[in-house]
Amino acid sequence: MAAELPLSHSAVVSQCRVLTPPKASAACPPAWARSHTSDKSAPSKKCWDCKVPVDQRTPHFCGTCKKIQPPTYSANQFQILGIPTTFDVDAERLEARYKALQKALHPDKFSTASPQEQAFSDAQASAVNSAYDTLRSPLRRARALLRLQGIEPEESAGVDDPELLAYVMEAREERIQEAIREKL
Ligand SMILES: [Zn+2]
Repeated sequence: MAAELPLSHSAVVSQCRVLTPPKASAACPPAWARSHTSDKSAPSKKCWDCKVPVDQRTPHFCGTCKKIQPPTYSANQFQILGIPTTFDVDAERLEARYKALQKALHPDKFSTASPQEQAFSDAQASAVNSAYDTLRSPLRRARALLRLQGIEPEESAGVDDPELLAYVMEAREERIQEAIREKL
């Protein structure tokens, strides 16, 4: 089966094998997982207004004072939309999350807020739009997942096949989920 894949396809698969150690124990996670967990050492994000730590599973607003928060620049598209980091995205859930956030972050809601909060609303809304635009496309979603693993898809010429990328992702999905659980 694998031998029938065009060269560019098998090149991608072998590239992934090279980057993933055969066994990644908790004591020695792969490099891409280490770079993710290092986010923990970043200053904990506290609400700019009430100073209570903001739950990063729902980072758009403070859970305590409900004020809008600045965008989390290190957040990936899945975290921005609050959906599981997986290729197999539930399209209805994705759209529901997008619409809910779009509504909550709409500039009209902040027309009487401070300039700072208006700027947060703008930045959050455009981050949500951009994340949704990426995740609703299988190809862009697969590329985003590869990037999360430290693989720059653009470097592999000819990789424009969502099914191939999905195949690569399936083989590594379990490892991603492990890393996400560790991070949380
Ligand atoms: Zn607050």
